[in-house]
Formats: sequence, C-alpha cells, structure tokens
Amino acid sequence: MYAELFQFAPGREGYYGAYGGAFIPEVLHETIAELRAAFAEAQADPAFWEAYVALLATYAGRPTPLTPLENLSRELGGARIYVKREDLNHTGAHKINNVLGQGLLARRMGKRRVIAETGAGQHGVATATMAARLGLACTIYMGAVDVARQRPNVFWMQQLGAEVVVVEEGTQTLKDAINACLRDWAESMDTTHYVMGTVCGPHPFPQMVTYFQSIIGREAREQVLASTGRLPRRVYACVGGGSNASGIFAGFLDDPEVELVGVEAGGHGRDSGRHAARLAYGQGRPGVAQGYKTYFLQDAEGQMRPTHSVAAGLDYIGVGPILAYLHECGRVRFEAATDAEVLAALQRVMRAEGIVPALESAHAFAVALHEVPALARDEVVLINLSGRGDKDIFTIAEALGDRAWRDFLRQRVRRYDEEGD
Ligand SMILES: *Cc1c(COP(=O)(O)O)cnc(C)c1O
Repeated sequence: MYAELFQFAPGREGYYGAYGGAFIPEVLHETIAELRAAFAEAQADPAFWEAYVALLATYAGRPTPLTPLENLSRELGGARIYVKREDLNHTGAHKINNVLGQGLLARRMGKRRVIAETGAGQHGVATATMAARLGLACTIYMGAVDVARQRPNVFWMQQLGAEVVVVEEGTQTLKDAINACLRDWAESMDTTHYVMGTVCGPHPFPQMVTYFQSIIGREAREQVLASTGRLPRRVYACVGGGSNASGIFAGFLDDPEVELVGVEAGGHGRDSGRHAARLAYGQGRPGVAQGYKTYFLQDAEGQMRPTHSVAAGLDYIGVGPILAYLHECGRVRFEAATDAEVLAALQRVMRAEGIVPALESAHAFAVALHEVPALARDEVVLINLSGRGDKDIFTIAEALGDRAWRDFLRQRVRRYDEEGD
C-alpha cells in the first residue's frame, strides 16, 4: 500500500483519492514542476538516500533508539509499550529529518537559499540549523503575534544566521506567514527552495516529506522486530499536519495486522469549538486552501474556524492529504485527546519513566495509555515520541497551575529581554 499511494492515475498526479493536488498560482507552475522532477530523480538515485542516512547518522543522532517503557507497562498491566525516541534527535524532534532531506535536495538542485514559514518556531529553528550546516542562506517568515509568543525560538534562528521576517499583516500568525513566504518564493524561485515543514501543501510536498520522515518507520519496524520478535498490535502518533505520524506509519502500512492510530488535538473537547480535531470529531470538511485539498475545520460558509490546542505544533487547520485518504480508507483510525487528558498523560510518563515528552507527543501517549490495559500482555504497542518537552516549560508550568514557577520563569524571561535590548 505504501508504494501504491504514490502511483498516481493519469491526470491525477499528487492525488490520494479526492485529496491533495497542487492549487498554486501560475508563476509557481514551473518551479513546482522542476521540484517534482528533481525529487523523482533523487528518489531513483540510491546514492541520494545513502547521503541522507549518513548525514542523519553523523549529525542528527540517528538511528534513534527504541525504548521499552517497563514501569508504565507494569503499572497498566496490558500490552508492552515501546517508544520510538524522536525526542533524542538534534534540535529535539523529528523535524530535523525532513529539513536535512530537503536541504540536500535544494543543494542538488543548485539552490543557494532556503525559506520557510513557522508558527511556534520549531520548524524555523530546524530549518535555520540545517541551513547553517549545509551552507545555505536562510529566511524565516513568522507572524508578529507568534514572534512575541516565541522569543527564544526567534533568538536561536537569528543566532544560527537566519533572517527572521516579522509578518505584520492580517492576524499576524501562521497563515499570514505562509502568504508572505509564497510571495518571496514567486520572486526568488531561481535561487531559492521553500522548505515545507509537514506533509501538507501542494504536490509534491506531502509525498516528499513522507519520504524523508519514513526513516522513522523503517527503523522502528526493524527495531521492534529485533527486540520483541513480533510486529506491534498498534502504532500511535500525534497528528498536527501529520509528518511524524506519516513517517512512523510508513513502516507498517503494508502490515494489515498492525493498527495505525493518529491522535489529534481535542483541546477543550468535542463541543467546545476550541480544538484542532479535523477528523476524529468528524467536524472537518473537504476544501481547498494553502495549495492543496483536504479536510479543514471550517464553518458552513467555508470560513476557516479558529483552532486551539495546548500543543502549538498540533494547532493547525488542515491535515495531510495522504492521512485524509488513509482515514477515508479506514487504514488509519483517528482519535483526539483533550488538553486535560494530555497533561495527565505527560505527568504520568515523566514520573514513571523519567522521560519528558513534548505536549504534541503527549497526545499519542494519552490515547495509548487509555487503550493499553484492554490488550493482552503478550502484545506490543509502539508510540512515536515525536519530540522532547523542554520547549514547553512555560505552558506546562502554567497548565499545571504552578503559579509560583510560572511567575518566576516569566520574570526571568522579562529580565532577559530587557537586558538584551
Ligand atoms: C511540529 C511537531 C509536531 C506536529 O507536526 P507533524 O507534522 O504532525 O508531525 C508533533 N510533535 C512535535 C514534537 C513537533 O515539534
């Protein structure tokens, strides 16, 4: 099924069922065609994948380990839980895999500059890191509201040598940063590659980002077989745009006995109007935006609805078209975890195992920990630990109601900002 996904019917290039496609302005047609050709050519060259794996091994910390959660498995008393440790990657999450792959491709295409948009800033930091390492110029677009919320990430992007452009238009958040980034690309495409952060956007980005992130699933499948002698009964991953989920699922798509579970941001719950569960709550509707067709959270008039999650990386309006299709086929089951459930799961994992998951990743844990006790003891489940929680210190302190810590941490940041000025 993995290979089948990318065998497009004539005239349906980049479509997964009804989803995907490339809805782009005329000026970008040639660039996107060039990108498709370069990606297809790189994919057909075994030396390209080898160079990618070597860069990940020597620079980013791959292969990442597989860790059995022995304490939690004992406490819960069902299937044995294993986690894929994407939190141990350089820059703290799976995002580095994708940006290094696109960086290598950009260089192969003779591009000397990369651009990206970022909401919470994690993709911006990963892209700036890659650009420094591979010797590419780098510009990151970020909404003014997000810049104010994510000062530490802006600081690191600049220290890494990237130019950060603060976008003052519209709502001054991610969608305005995307528009600004596209405008840049339309003028600079001869020299510049647009580094997409997740499995969204126009074809070929969903396919390309899935390809690079499939390293997670390839490694995990081998590791779980080597450690347990069997395939997992279920694989859990959180879903923002869907790149870490697509990456780990890629290793198991052709194993029909392995159930794949994507976990979206349930925010304040199903009927709250404050969540980002496009599929799990059945509230997303197919539509076209940001260059591709998928399920978006929108109202009856087709206006995009505001989204919410305690995890910035899951707070997104759309979902990767490949995942939308796999949802429709019934190959991936979608669930949602609320902010409260996520915080409880996060605390439990920290205390039991000495691991601090990112708030995003804790969504996968919330659903897995809930379902594991009903499984047999000889079964195995695999959770993708997409990133580490260090970046979430303020949100977690605040959400857990630890006001003394929150105020202390805020003061420190304020003082640091003032001294910096
Ligand atoms: C960005 C991010 C996500 C969400 O992105 P996907 O494309 O859905 O993987 C999830 N987890 C972490 C740790 C992230 O940084």
